[in-house]
Amino acid sequence: MTKIRNQLDHINQRITRALTHSGRTPDQPVLLLAVSKRHPLGKIQTLYELGLRDFGESYVQEALEKIQQNNHTDIIWHFIGPIQSNKTRDIARHFHWVHSVDRIKIAQRLSSQRPETMPPLNICLQINISEEAQKSGFSTTEVFSVIEEISQLPHLRLRGLMAIPKAEAAIDRQKQAFRQLRELMQQLNEQFQLNMDTLSMGMSADLEAAIAEGATIIRIGTALFGPREKT
Ligand SMILES: *Cc1c(COP(=O)(O)O)cnc(C)c1O
Repeated sequence: MTKIRNQLDHINQRITRALTHSGRTPDQPVLLLAVSKRHPLGKIQTLYELGLRDFGESYVQEALEKIQQNNHTDIIWHFIGPIQSNKTRDIARHFHWVHSVDRIKIAQRLSSQRPETMPPLNICLQINISEEAQKSGFSTTEVFSVIEEISQLPHLRLRGLMAIPKAEAAIDRQKQAFRQLRELMQQLNEQFQLNMDTLSMGMSADLEAAIAEGATIIRIGTALFGPREKT
């Protein structure tokens, strides 16, 4: 408890400092999403007791076990991992958010498989902002040709964009990619008359740069939980 509490305190200090430095006002808060993939449910419980409600998972089977075993009804579950088509039904039924929508077909399946009795599924489109061959996500041009159709899917609510930029040591280089994502969302909002409000960007190593460029959700694993367990 003490160790994880200290790590949470430290992250909260980093967030507060970054918000102050960037001149953001209290009406532009940032959500700390605790990335709990490959960490046991016990640690999620600990962070829940410390006040966190949003948890991010990357592997469907592992996530479903935690979702079913946990007995808090007010946890908000975010899916942030790669999505295979045969997993969309489980994701549509058990999550509140999906950050990693990277194909139109995945969006269509998530919408058609979202139960009618549940509110629309919040989604972000993953953008391959650094144009790396091995990374998934829409390219910054491709997204213009799919976003209109995705925004109209009935059981999804298009909230914004997500990116995992190439790792960079220098903060100016980190900021550059995050700024591109912010500008891309502005441009898409204007061109297609959308009201996306979410930039899911920034992880343990680059949260300061992400907050400076307008992140609304930062996804933090290692800096909060320590090293992940092997699968
Ligand atoms: C694992 C993961 C994170 C957390 O990364 P850390 O470096 O451990 O903070 C954030 N986002 C995504 C998409 C991830 O897969």
